[in-house]
Amino acid sequence: SQALLQIENLKTVFENTKSAVTVVDDISFSMNKGETLALVGESGCGKSMTSLSIMGLLPGTGKVAQGKIMFEGNDLTKKSVEDISKIRGNKIAMIFQEPMTSLNPVLKIGDQMTEGLILHHKLSKKEAEARAIERLKLVGFARATDIMNEYPHQLSGGMRQRVMIAMAMSTDPQLLIADEPTTALDVTIQAQVLELMRDVKAEFETSILLITHDLGVVAEMADRVVVMYAGKVVEEASVFDVFEKSSHPYTEGLLKSVPNLESDQTRLYSIRGNVPTPEEFPIGCRFAPRCDKAMDHCFDHAPDLYRVGDRHQVRCFLYHPEKGTFSHE
Ligand code: SF4
Ligand code: MG
Repeated sequence: SQALLQIENLKTVFENTKSAVTVVDDISFSMNKGETLALVGESGCGKSMTSLSIMGLLPGTGKVAQGKIMFEGNDLTKKSVEDISKIRGNKIAMIFQEPMTSLNPVLKIGDQMTEGLILHHKLSKKEAEARAIERLKLVGFARATDIMNEYPHQLSGGMRQRVMIAMAMSTDPQLLIADEPTTALDVTIQAQVLELMRDVKAEFETSILLITHDLGVVAEMADRVVVMYAGKVVEEASVFDVFEKSSHPYTEGLLKSVPNLESDQTRLYSIRGNVPTPEEFPIGCRFAPRCDKAMDHCFDHAPDLYRVGDRHQVRCFLYHPEKGTFSHE
């Protein structure tokens, strides 16, 4: 099947007159229709910058310096600002961690939901209102008509996130980009929102690009996983392979950091050290300073992605076909 979204060698930089920093460094991955792909990593690894690159919403001096973003066979990096904004209001929708940043505080929910439908979809006010009410019901608001007349601050955090999903789904997008959609919510509401996203995906066959640091969420939602570290893809695999045979030391560290209810561990594991800033990415393997398995070779050579299984790739010298030749340098 043809990929819905195919990212090829994407490089995103922030430039000023003196220097340029690369926040997304030559990443590639693809998503099929109806698939949920999780982009995983600690904060500062380039996940959000990847999604903002796709949406054409990079802040400040950020720009795509290289690569292709193929969506339904068209390269989004070649599109005008106007075209991108049309695609965004139409075929690609986005929900964020904190809905208050994307909801307009002085507009009623109904007005916010119908605005785009009238503008981009040429629906009449009546049709747009009917669509909005239908989508609000879909996300579990029994009294959807009342919600239309509320302002964002009158709703709870969980309700606002459901409104965001209803709004995102109001245009029947092919692709929903969800950046840490449940991180700000408490555990019960989080479970409801995830279930809702699964329902929506089943009903509309929407592909979901899910950005998260939470492997529990990944286990529940994703078909495929792309792990990012310091601007690079370090592992790509099916969700099964990530949990059953994860291979990159970084992925293993993330997995060990997930709270495990079945074990009686009292202190949660955490990977030592911090994600480097783009100005100080190490020259060898970017994970080497934090890696328990690092070899001398890792500190001055950068690993490629090596294939370890069917659609399973790992950027680590432990999986280099000739690993034995340099491991004792
Ligand atoms: Fe660790 Fe070396 Fe693999 Fe990097 S290449 S993850 S430092 S073992
Ligand atoms: Mg982020």
